[in-house]
Amino acid sequence: MTNPLEAVAESLRQFIETQEPTRNPDHSVVCEAVWIIHGEHAELSEHYDDAMICDGNTRLYWVIPNSPEEQTICVADGIVHIGTVESVTSMLNAQYCMDNDVMQCKRCGHFNDEYTEGVAECWSCGHHIDGSDNPELSTLLEEKDWQFIEDGDYNCYYRYRHPIPTHNTETHQTIVWFRLQYFEGQCSELPRYGASIVCVNPKMAGKKGVKAMLESMGLDEEWEEEVWEQLDLGAKAVREGKRNGLEQMLIEYGTCATYFETSGNSKSDVTRKVLQQLKAFTVVAGFYLDAPQNRIGSSGWEFMKGDIMAGLDRMGSSGWDDKDS
Ligand SMILES: [Zn+2]
Repeated sequence: MTNPLEAVAESLRQFIETQEPTRNPDHSVVCEAVWIIHGEHAELSEHYDDAMICDGNTRLYWVIPNSPEEQTICVADGIVHIGTVESVTSMLNAQYCMDNDVMQCKRCGHFNDEYTEGVAECWSCGHHIDGSDNPELSTLLEEKDWQFIEDGDYNCYYRYRHPIPTHNTETHQTIVWFRLQYFEGQCSELPRYGASIVCVNPKMAGKKGVKAMLESMGLDEEWEEEVWEQLDLGAKAVREGKRNGLEQMLIEYGTCATYFETSGNSKSDVTRKVLQQLKAFTVVAGFYLDAPQNRIGSSGWEFMKGDIMAGLDRMGSSGWDDKDS
């Protein structure tokens, strides 16, 4: 059996073809639909109100059905659609997204014009565009394992409470940090976030590395005193977090080794990806830090010393210079 609304729609299409110009053609088409339903289709009239409505947001007009689950006549931009208001609205929204290269948030309906794919946060409601939750970092980084340090304009830091087991752990204390960078504050380009696992070891950076960092940051003597005190702290004090300030400064300056980094448009998604890597890292940290970190072959230890050109020096002494001479 054909849908009786089809007969109404067919009459409306003829009506549209012969329609006189008006300021609001969709409005008169739906008024005509109400007229046809109640004047010519007695079997339909009991299912529909004798009024129409327009949604200001989507500019969709429809004949009001007795129940929202009921199919009805909908009109948008001179085209007649049959369906529930919800299904027609979502079809038109999907079409709008395709035509305009945007994504609609399944949580709040906002059209996000910066994204076309991937897990992304809605600029309006902050949840994920696909409707899934976007949990806070504090829930992802369980407090027993991570200490919250700072959430600033450009970076958010957490410090792993457990020093990683590498050789001479007691004297050197390599500490893992979680770093989230906010790119959106710096430029309008996507992705919005960068997340990484970084390792820092002030004792390896030593007086030389710390001095270079202090000079570049232009810190005064008062600061210097504090920094030297932190550098001399023993393993217990380090575990208790008394060296956090110095560790953070070295990371910001770049005297650290980056184990894993990723970027994306969801805070919780990039954080989860980093945390997945962390388990493996705590097991293989020593091997990882021994391995070359850049194209010139500097190791993770050398990065933490602030000596990222070490690999080049080795190449120079073992071959390149000989070739030139
Ligand atoms: Zn939203």
